Amino acid sequence: MRNGVEVMENFPYEEYRKGQRESIALISKFLGRFIVLKAPTGFGKTVVALLAHKDADRVLYAVRTRNEMVPVIREAKKLNINYCFIFSGRRMCPLLRGSDVRPEDFWVNCRILRFKGLCDFYANLDRKPYQDKLGDILHRRENDPRQIVLSIINELKICPFFALADRAHHSKLVIVTYPYLFQEEIFRTAFTDLSLSDYYVVVDEAHTILNPQSIIEGELDEVTLDSAIREVKQYCPSEEVIKYLTSIKELLKSVKSRLLRRVEKAFIFPGEGILQLLEDSLIEIKLKQLRELTVRPADFVRLGSSLNRVLKFLTYVKRDEFQVYGIADITEGVKKLKVMPINYDVITERLSEAKGILLMSGTLPPKEVMDSVCGQETVYVDVEEEFGNIFPRENTFYAVVTYVSSSYKLRVKEMFLKYADLLTSIYHALDKGVILAVYPSYPFMDEVTVNIIDIPDHIIEGRGTTYADIASSVLNSSGKVVVHAVASGKLTEGIELLDEAGRSLIKVVVLMGIPYPQPDDYLIDLRRSLSERLGNKVATDLTTSVPAAIRVLQAVGRAIRSERDRAFIVLADRRFLSLKLRTLLGIHYDAVVNSKNRLSELIIKFFRGYL
Ligand code: SF4
Repeated sequence: MRNGVEVMENFPYEEYRKGQRESIALISKFLGRFIVLKAPTGFGKTVVALLAHKDADRVLYAVRTRNEMVPVIREAKKLNINYCFIFSGRRMCPLLRGSDVRPEDFWVNCRILRFKGLCDFYANLDRKPYQDKLGDILHRRENDPRQIVLSIINELKICPFFALADRAHHSKLVIVTYPYLFQEEIFRTAFTDLSLSDYYVVVDEAHTILNPQSIIEGELDEVTLDSAIREVKQYCPSEEVIKYLTSIKELLKSVKSRLLRRVEKAFIFPGEGILQLLEDSLIEIKLKQLRELTVRPADFVRLGSSLNRVLKFLTYVKRDEFQVYGIADITEGVKKLKVMPINYDVITERLSEAKGILLMSGTLPPKEVMDSVCGQETVYVDVEEEFGNIFPRENTFYAVVTYVSSSYKLRVKEMFLKYADLLTSIYHALDKGVILAVYPSYPFMDEVTVNIIDIPDHIIEGRGTTYADIASSVLNSSGKVVVHAVASGKLTEGIELLDEAGRSLIKVVVLMGIPYPQPDDYLIDLRRSLSERLGNKVATDLTTSVPAAIRVLQAVGRAIRSERDRAFIVLADRRFLSLKLRTLLGIHYDAVVNSKNRLSELIIKFFRGYL
């Protein structure tokens, strides 16, 4: 009995999957340590993690996106665990329905509305008791957090964010999106009287922590700077602030490269004085906006401040573990400054505050790499290595193609044509289904796709492409379609295309080269910083082969979602034969081919059941 709620001892399914019972026992035994659980999608990691923590008093379960909360909510209910969830305050806010505002603006506005007593949804929290009804809503059949939030708003007329944040204090399990775990100031907005040291932390899709800039980074573009200058001129003309903002804008004009290039940090952040100056101006702007406002709080909460965005950017810049870069983003047609972490400290220091850590993913690197990243010896459980394949091995065929390579020195017209031709022959060898072609970068993808002439149905990922676009393309195709996507993009990290019976529609995954990260200044800085602590070899692996291997495994995982899926994986780059990649991938290759005809033969045989 914890927090007044009995946690069921019994497993909620008819039987355990291979390795589940053993994993629960192992994790329970080592609670309090840094535990790593490597298990493929479909293993049932969520239920394992929850049952392994059945004796823990408080668990913080961090997922990347709101959608990823759904299975955790479902399992929590099956196990009768007292739970709640917290995601973006601005996405929950009933005053903001249907419109968008930057998080930093939203929180300033929300704070002012609460302080001035202008938000009725907030005031209603104290007007009458709502806790029992909130508990009922959380434990109904609905598992989608967005729908649950709508029920809270419609039925209780209270602020869902602060109601759920309050409930977090009395819940055994709190499911949150990453920022509530990794960013102290965001954690504080929801957990006022609690600290991370009160929690056992579970991190889902934990391979993401090897890519720290995907968890925390700041951005500033020309449009924001222009708008910040206008704001200052309108509300609180300060010559010093205008001069500072104009100098940053001038610097941005000189950014030309499509790759991240280092920018002098001291120029962007000349000292604490500038922060103070901007903060004072921001308060003045906000107060004047509020005074001018003769309309409803719902309009105030939507108001943005570009100066606030500059301020937020500077709070990252001032931190030692962050560096600033400029990039000319051709696709979006804007020049940007980015501030990014150049080591894992922002992640690991935060995690080390917790009572215990469980990192889970299907695509984690080997133990020695995780030990280096976590800065301590981890308890490493590789489910398939310890307990055998979760899905039948014969359902997947891996073929390496040796006559192509995405190596920089070979990126010439002839090679792009070879890749286009290879993909075309794969398309014609397959009877039906989706081929997912995964490229190292957008420019590489452009060079190949422009040379494809004989694939009637294909869709090319752009920066704004959504799952819905892909799903409708697949639906409207002749039954055979190629999806071109970039490794580590949103499609290769999350796309799931299933038929009505729940089987994956992706039959072939083609790695169009090895998706090493781009060789830019950020990579150089990250490597340099990591090598000071971990040595050159580990730092090089962590910035080249390890992220490449994770991207490959993520792409492969798109096709294999359950034991009923069969997929043919084409590793189209001769460098897949290197010992380093083979070790990191942990894949036994079924064939090595040096012609497209031989590859086509294998694809045909595999799907006819001869291999
Ligand atoms: S409802 Fe009010 S208190 Fe709640 S998030 Fe929105 S503005 Fe803030």
